Amino acid sequence: MDLFPVFLNLRQRPCLVVGGGEVAARKVTLLRRSQAQVTVVAPQLCPRLRDAARGGDIRYQEKLFEAADLVGQTLVIAATDDSEVNRSVAKLAKRSNIPVNVVDQPQLGSFTVPSIVDRSPVLVAVATGGASPILARLLRARLESTIPAVYGRLAELVERFRREVQARFTDPRARRRFWEAVLQGHVAELLFAGRDAAAEAALRSAMEDVEAGSRGEVYLVGAGPGDPDLLTFRALRLMQQADVVLYDRLVAPAILDLTRRDAERLYVGKARADHTVPQTKINELLVELAQQGKRVLRLKGGDPFIFGRGGEEIDRLADAGIPFQVVPGITAAAGCGAYAGIPLTHRDYAQSCVFVTGHLKDGSVDLNWDALVQPQQTVVIYMGLSGLEELCRQLVAHGFPATTPAALVEQGTTAKQRVFTGDLASLPRLVRSAGARAPTLVIVGDVVKLHDKLAWYRPGAGARQ
Ligand code: SAH
Repeated sequence: MDLFPVFLNLRQRPCLVVGGGEVAARKVTLLRRSQAQVTVVAPQLCPRLRDAARGGDIRYQEKLFEAADLVGQTLVIAATDDSEVNRSVAKLAKRSNIPVNVVDQPQLGSFTVPSIVDRSPVLVAVATGGASPILARLLRARLESTIPAVYGRLAELVERFRREVQARFTDPRARRRFWEAVLQGHVAELLFAGRDAAAEAALRSAMEDVEAGSRGEVYLVGAGPGDPDLLTFRALRLMQQADVVLYDRLVAPAILDLTRRDAERLYVGKARADHTVPQTKINELLVELAQQGKRVLRLKGGDPFIFGRGGEEIDRLADAGIPFQVVPGITAAAGCGAYAGIPLTHRDYAQSCVFVTGHLKDGSVDLNWDALVQPQQTVVIYMGLSGLEELCRQLVAHGFPATTPAALVEQGTTAKQRVFTGDLASLPRLVRSAGARAPTLVIVGDVVKLHDKLAWYRPGAGARQ
């Protein structure tokens, strides 16, 4: 290791920034966030620094740098665009044993400024020893996406209870187990869900009863339409901590692969008319598993509250007093619309959009046709493949012209996505002859016209440049 990593307390300490441009401004911001007292020495300032000087956030000395400016400084940053000036700042500062950083020429200074993920009081710093600031930035972006924004609040909670917990659990091992249960379990999840008071109450009760930290619960999670990139951060986090996963056919294998490797996986079926495990059985299973103290992930395609029967599942959980949370997902309509280049609403073509299920019952589809057949409205039909002829026929019978544009998106957002477009008269034939297979989504309305121009996702061929 060539560098010694530290976090410096600069609160109310005098720090000097030499240079008045945008680069200097960025360093000033960072120093100000650490509550340092910042002096800027430069012949002129960029607008951002001028505002800061005017607002009294920094002290400004309008002049060229000279050695005397270093007197009394705790830390110095050279951020001018003149490498000779930077070099001389670094040399003089080092001579006076003042830590100095030279922006863009890290080898000249005595310290570098890492890329940071700020979840104060949690701070993660990434450094590459100056080898590649871009690599550090990329790594930081990855960390940003895996460390939820609320980690700071979690750390504050721990801080508040540290002494009490220390007094309660004198055995260090028991204490560690306690904190692990809190930080990975119910208490943390409550906090992540924005329920701070409930989290604090749960932490208190966990202190009375160590078991409480490992109580079972259910996560009803929307997995999106297929592309794993469309998962939410929260979905991914819960997927990686669940003990058991209940999933159905709509959940793509690539998504299932992202669940914790040693989690138990239960397939509960659900293709059309093939309810491998009946809904009531699924509801009971969720209750049973949670009562065994497990963290149960109920993974659903799309969004759990849109034609997903998620409501029924948590209804049963609420009755049984099992804690649960619901994570929204990108519903098929949003995913397919975006990936097929069909905006569901558009100023020129559609001011409203309705989602309906086109599920056949006894060979017919029972829908409020008059409500669907409205001008300037997009109709999105879930589960509409087997009843497609009947759907299109009814829409025309109730007043849509047979020439109304219509599309069918097969396996939307996945590498196998296919989009068929035509009109209400031609679509059924087109789809049959291509042998389209579920899951498919039907979109009806003038917005479909935009597909030719706006389609960008071409699976296999990569995105349009
Ligand atoms: N909760 C889900 C919908 C479940 S109903 C959601 O919010 O998306 C199942 C229907 O969703 C399928 O019959 C199909 O119409 C639609 N669907 C789901 N994923 C799809 C995909 N990747 N492409 C096209 N349609 C999809």
